[in-house]
Amino acid sequence: MATSVVPAGRSARRAAAEDEKLVFETTEGIEPVASFDEMGLKEDVLRGIYNYGFEKPSAIQQRALMPIIKGRDVIAQAQSGTGKTSMIALTACQLVDTANREVQALILSPTRELAEQTEKVITAIGENINIQVHACIGGKSVGEDIRKLEYGVHVVSGTPGRVCDMIKRRSLRTRAIRVLVLDESDEMLSRGFKDQIYDVYRYLPPELQVVLISATLPNEILEITSKFMTDPVKILVKRDELTLEGIKQFFVAVEKEEWKFETLTDLYDTLTITQAVIFCNTKRKVDWLTAKMVEFNFTVSAMHGDMPQRERDAIMSNFRLGETRVLITTDVWARGLDVQQVSLVINYDLPNNRELYIHRIGRSGRFGRKGVAINFVKSDDIRILRDIEQYYSTQIDEMPMNIGDLI
Ligand code: ADP
Ligand code: MG
Repeated sequence: MATSVVPAGRSARRAAAEDEKLVFETTEGIEPVASFDEMGLKEDVLRGIYNYGFEKPSAIQQRALMPIIKGRDVIAQAQSGTGKTSMIALTACQLVDTANREVQALILSPTRELAEQTEKVITAIGENINIQVHACIGGKSVGEDIRKLEYGVHVVSGTPGRVCDMIKRRSLRTRAIRVLVLDESDEMLSRGFKDQIYDVYRYLPPELQVVLISATLPNEILEITSKFMTDPVKILVKRDELTLEGIKQFFVAVEKEEWKFETLTDLYDTLTITQAVIFCNTKRKVDWLTAKMVEFNFTVSAMHGDMPQRERDAIMSNFRLGETRVLITTDVWARGLDVQQVSLVINYDLPNNRELYIHRIGRSGRFGRKGVAINFVKSDDIRILRDIEQYYSTQIDEMPMNIGDLI
């Protein structure tokens, strides 16, 4: 039985959407700029971009880069893996004056790993301007943070808690900060983080530029942006354009929770074709599933927020290097993390909300690569899956036998 709900006319619209203009709802007057050369970037930054391997700006970069560089407040939405975070990294390089050893750009991310990833991209793209970036994140030595910040850095990429702490200790001086970026901004402005973000915001200079980016920007988030943004340029994606054609989505009907484990072990060879991320909804479940996989002699690694940061870092690094191929994790991994080799995402548990679904499956299919997402659905989960399918006007078919051929 197929559970796909595909509204009529979608494929025709898709074909037309080859013209990317149709995909975005953009503030009037924003024209795409088709090459990095035409953006008036600093010579050294431009060289950094090309050396990093970027040849041409992606659709969102073509639209959002110029307004950000010109100092406008910007709300930029685009599908996962299309270069939003990279765009922030390169605008940070463009906007800071490296002759001035003060923090001029502050980038906040919801997880430590994402803040570190962004730090690395800035360091790489900013190589030729000798940019100093510091990842200011929880779980690391406070003393080291203070030392680095007092020595002087141009950009801070951090998580809200630690950044707020450093500001209150006056180790992170805010007077020269020109731009605040919230990556995964819907998450940053949601319940868990909102107060901390406003707390940080209070310390920033009044003429601050604010940039919000995310693949998902629900209306309730867009509605509160007027509180801290001035006449923002908006580049938004319609909901039914948010899932990527390159990521094929499937489900396996498992009926009962107990059947999931065997389904997963049956898929193990498929998981290791390249690299795979398996999502569970709780840390306990991650621990349980990992132990059980190991007990049955399957090689897996695991990561979640209760692990010491040192261990999280080691697991990330091994996974990035491809030394481990199967990672079992929680939603700490759902947003922003970029490992190009990941071609398969498994939702061992369906996510708790619609946004998370988009972010989780977006760990595969980075920058136009192919990806596959497989959802394990119990009988009483079918409803949730249909809801996701309908909400994003996408198609989630039953997993075919030859799934390995699709990866
Ligand atoms: P997003 O934040 O939209 O999910 P990222 O910025 O993490 O996307 O980028 C996803 C991948 O695409 C990364 O591996 C990044 O290096 C790559 N990428 C981004 N922009 C470009 C570009 N213009 N050309 C080539 N690769 C790019
Ligand atoms: Mg990102």
